[in-house]
Amino acid sequence: MYRTEGIVLRTRNLGEADKIVTLYTKTNGKVVAVARGARRIRNRLLGPTQVFTQGRYLIFTGKTLDTLSQGEIVNSFQDLREDLDKMAATMYLSELVDVLIEPGEASLEIYSLLLNTLKMLSQKQINYALRVFELRFAKHLGYEPQLNNCINCNNFPEKAIYFSRQGGVVCDQCRSQLLPVQTISRGTWELAKRILAWDWSRISILHPSEQSLSELEACMRAFYDYRLDKPLQSLDFIHTLKEFSPPEVKN
Ligand SMILES: [Zn+2]
Repeated sequence: MYRTEGIVLRTRNLGEADKIVTLYTKTNGKVVAVARGARRIRNRLLGPTQVFTQGRYLIFTGKTLDTLSQGEIVNSFQDLREDLDKMAATMYLSELVDVLIEPGEASLEIYSLLLNTLKMLSQKQINYALRVFELRFAKHLGYEPQLNNCINCNNFPEKAIYFSRQGGVVCDQCRSQLLPVQTISRGTWELAKRILAWDWSRISILHPSEQSLSELEACMRAFYDYRLDKPLQSLDFIHTLKEFSPPEVKN
């Protein structure tokens, strides 16, 4: 039995009233636990086991499945469940964490990253929050993209800069050997380096351009897709939302 703080990444229904909850916890990493009765309207676990909630939990370890027996909300992040764009973004990062992390690997850095990203999503800095998460999550997982020098020849990219899904920047000379690559501007390159190197307090006050964010999105999409066995389900939801979003009103 242990007490820990955690964030609910996803939930699945079990039987008539139970839920299987996947949490990323501060002290025990990813935990999958059953919450008995958590779908009943008067149950005390109903609130603390809502997806994307940050809470404090009491967990009993079992032979096959752990049991989440008590929960107390620290931050309900209700807005992340009520706004479709925020919800889609949060589903995406929850899925990334869920598929790339095995149970039992605790990392305080990943926990803090997740929490800080949820706060940024709450403030509606959606695209920027996701790019920061993608870059720093890769770093904490141990495959930080190499951004200072070309991943092939190790030279400093003097002219044009490209990004390879294999994990970093590529120079003009090596480009043809590492296709497919994405072209990135110098501004995007600088932004990516700052996101990886700077403290959170400094990162969260940057205001990157839309162009840099969309270049980084393409780079990190290719980077993660290259490492995943199958496409992420949450991306379908994000694409659907984009297709149905109303055109911007021009003055
Ligand atoms: Zn090179």
